[in-house]
Amino acid sequence: MSLDWLAPAERIQTLPPYVFAHLDQLKAKAREQGHDLIDLGMGNPDGATPQPVVEAAIKALQNSANHGYPPFEGTTSFRRAITKWYDRRYGVVLDPETEALPLLGSKEGLTHLAFAYVNPGDLVLVPSPAYPAHFRGPLLAGGKVHSLMLKPENDWLIDLAAIPDAVAQQAKILYFNYPSNPTAATAPREFFEEIVAFARKYEIMLVHDLCYAELSFDGYQPTSLLEIPGGKDIGVEFHTLSKTYNMAGWRVGFVVGNSDIIEGLRTLKTNMDYGLFAALQAAGESALQLPDIYLEQVQKLYRTRRDFLIQGLGELGWDIPKTKATMYVWAKCPLGMGSTEFIQKVLEKTGVVFTPGNAFGLGGQGYVRISLIADCDRLGEVIRRLKQAGIRYQPEAVVSSSQ
Ligand SMILES: *Cc1c(COP(=O)(O)O)cnc(C)c1O
Repeated sequence: MSLDWLAPAERIQTLPPYVFAHLDQLKAKAREQGHDLIDLGMGNPDGATPQPVVEAAIKALQNSANHGYPPFEGTTSFRRAITKWYDRRYGVVLDPETEALPLLGSKEGLTHLAFAYVNPGDLVLVPSPAYPAHFRGPLLAGGKVHSLMLKPENDWLIDLAAIPDAVAQQAKILYFNYPSNPTAATAPREFFEEIVAFARKYEIMLVHDLCYAELSFDGYQPTSLLEIPGGKDIGVEFHTLSKTYNMAGWRVGFVVGNSDIIEGLRTLKTNMDYGLFAALQAAGESALQLPDIYLEQVQKLYRTRRDFLIQGLGELGWDIPKTKATMYVWAKCPLGMGSTEFIQKVLEKTGVVFTPGNAFGLGGQGYVRISLIADCDRLGEVIRRLKQAGIRYQPEAVVSSSQ
């Protein structure tokens, strides 16, 4: 029977296409053609969850006290582990009762926060490029998204001074994310001070996504919004265990910050889910309690891959500055090529998968994101294949000088 009388809600129909779904089709086609795919497209860590976390999960799984519905707001024990971790990492003291909330992965919370706060027609400021949930959440909730175009000449930082006064006056929420997925850009502390002042002036809720707080290199320590005086008065910060602890499949994240904002999200969530399985909260707790040596090992792994890939791409004409954080390299497409055209060419000729920058919004056009989710042997193979296929970066200067 055909359900042609049944249309999905407009909020789904009007969403921009999800580029990752299209990418899946392209990958399937390349596999059919016999390519040995090297998939550097997703932000899905390739490593195993640390053994102490797996063991804590097994132990918690065997305790029947964990088998019922968990408390809506998360277990006291996990919330305490979160606030202790915040104090240890950032010197920020938070109330585990009201200022920390476990999430079913941070993507869930980032999206539901929009449902808790955005009325149809409300204006939300979101950088472009951005992590898709930052604009898809507000769009699903019926909001209007005003894109803040990020530019390489501004080191991919939001240019707050370029936001028209009328737009800032109307805006209700601003999402942002440093260290950034996809650009790998980091923001200096002064930027956080400026954005807090901006948000206070215009009365805008700040939503900071600090998913890559731990994946930082060369002594760089990312800033928390909550470290900034006044930050907690107007904002919240999202974290995930997916990336740092190789736990993407477990779905454990949390939000911390302003208690009123968190209360709104909690109220919405009590109507939609029952909170995170208590055994997973126990596992999350053990992850946050891992000694710093674990973090150092993960950081070293990504730093080594970063150096290796940037060096290899350098031999092919790309001049990419060393990123101070994240698990991504953000590279410009060869001159005159759009993101989609370039990733298709790379996939067809080499079987290597990059993410087109426009998957993250129009501001990512002309770039690709490369995830550091393969070991150096495989990354070496990527460079060899690109070389063999004659895929290089042509700097603009070469073209213009030959005019
Ligand atoms: C990976 C990622 C997330 C999603 O994390 P989950 O906790 O797995 O949902 C959120 N924000 C950014 C910027 C990410 O890169």
